[in-house]
Amino acid sequence: MEGMYPLGVIAASILAFLLLLGIHGRWGKGRKATGKRDSGAVAAGFGGADVIVVGAGVTGSALACALGKDGRRVHVIERDLAEPDTIVGEVLQPGGCLNLLELGLEDCVDEIDAQRVLGYVLTKNGRSAKLSIPLEKYHVDVAARSFHHGRFIQRLREKAASLSSVQLKQGTVTSLIKEDGIVKGVVYKTKSGKESKAFAPLTVVCDGCFSNLRHTLCSSKVDVPSYFVGLLLKDFQLPFPNHVHFILEDPSIVLFYSISSTETRCLVVVPGQKVPSIANGEMENYLKTIVAPQVPTELRDAFVAAIDKGNIRTMPCKSMPADAHLTPGVLLMGDAFNMRHPLTGGGMTVGLSDVIVLRDLLRPLHDLHDAAALCKYLESFYILRKPVASTMNMLADAFYKLFSASPDEARKEIGQAYFDCLSLGVRGLRGSARLISAAAGIVLPLMKAEGVRQTFFPATFPAYYRAPPAQLKQ
Ligand SMILES: Cc1cc2nc3c(=O)[nH]c(=O)nc-3n(C[C@H](O)[C@H](O)[C@H](O)COP(=O)(O)OP(=O)(O)OC[C@H]3O[C@@H](n4cnc5c(N)ncnc54)[C@H](O)[C@@H]3O)c2cc1C
Repeated sequence: MEGMYPLGVIAASILAFLLLLGIHGRWGKGRKATGKRDSGAVAAGFGGADVIVVGAGVTGSALACALGKDGRRVHVIERDLAEPDTIVGEVLQPGGCLNLLELGLEDCVDEIDAQRVLGYVLTKNGRSAKLSIPLEKYHVDVAARSFHHGRFIQRLREKAASLSSVQLKQGTVTSLIKEDGIVKGVVYKTKSGKESKAFAPLTVVCDGCFSNLRHTLCSSKVDVPSYFVGLLLKDFQLPFPNHVHFILEDPSIVLFYSISSTETRCLVVVPGQKVPSIANGEMENYLKTIVAPQVPTELRDAFVAAIDKGNIRTMPCKSMPADAHLTPGVLLMGDAFNMRHPLTGGGMTVGLSDVIVLRDLLRPLHDLHDAAALCKYLESFYILRKPVASTMNMLADAFYKLFSASPDEARKEIGQAYFDCLSLGVRGLRGSARLISAAAGIVLPLMKAEGVRQTFFPATFPAYYRAPPAQLKQ
């Protein structure tokens, strides 16, 4: 690539680290599916279900498949069963693909015109670094995939619905049913508007980033540091096919990746808590006058053509540490529970990893009606997921903070330093105290929010030892 930037290796190495985490950031690698339940052994649930899953996005659908395959009777209630049309969740990292494999759902990326992602191209100040995903040691195809999110979700939903133990219904859950401090089920509105109730010893809330149920279950603060603005480019070939292109500029980071054989998604990060208005043309103006000049020439014409075509869409980039209250009978999962900046595309991988943790954790527990025992297992879930999920969260938020626009000169210098590792040596000690202090300013609050003890020393919690032995680190 023109102007290939050898000193951008450090920036690439952060991303490589993320990718490796993406690959390794999962539970159950190399573990055999032990303790498979036979469906006859499952205790009868309230109203016939063992588990109610609220929301059939990636987390809820995968969870329904995982628990349904283990013989649990699962009742999934999803607000809208039509194919989602969205700009979120279009790149599944290699770790997410491995998680799909572990769940037996790897064919959900087939037949949707998904594109293999073989690496990443980072461009800063007109110079680029190309990074390949190290896939050689895997005997199966775990290349990341990019696709239409809605098509992937429909495949997962079809899989769930095909299991005789899973019932997938359209309905909107409006509240949780609580008795004596224990969640016993949910109230929901059916498609026809009729109010109905469903009961089960365990309810898993996976209603996504706009969750209206989580406020009673956690006290996490949602941070919205920026927005993603989405454009669609038709019949355009990226300079490096099968690579996600990151343009790391100030004030906007821009991403390009294919979502089908004929379509390329462009996402522009707009920092701040407010985006320019699309309706009055401010957004078009922002994209054309501020962002377009920083887009490499080989991508610029297609970028401007996509703006002219319209259909500009926005989504808030939310970040929220996991901080659920332990409530008997209920669990929060997916974006409803925990979010990180979407720049590194880790959300679906974390959701799938959590599904594996919960599936394996519940396997020895045949009777979910034992509320006290179940509650202890739920407590273990929150501890056991921490090392993987928190590490991915911290890296995603740190990567965003490092490369996003900042008035802080020291932070800008760190971002540049990752592209120019020698500059640290050249500048010597003069600025290093400032850089270390700025780096600490990024990482320490993230570590604090995630919980240092849970993330780095999970074995100091008694709940850690409640996991099946295979889940404990050797
Ligand atoms: C702009 C953007 C880009 C992103 N890009 C990526 C990416 O490339 N890769 C990646 O891995 N992650 C990405 N993410 C994150 C990823 O999209 C999420 O982590 C993931 O979709 C979360 O899945 P979920 O199942 O928890 O929630 P969702 O996918 O939001 O699913 C929630 C489901 O619950 C349903 N629901 C909501 N309320 C109710 C209710 N009351 N009753 C019944 N059903 C209800 C909804 O209809 C929906 O189907 C991105 C996020 C954003 C914001």
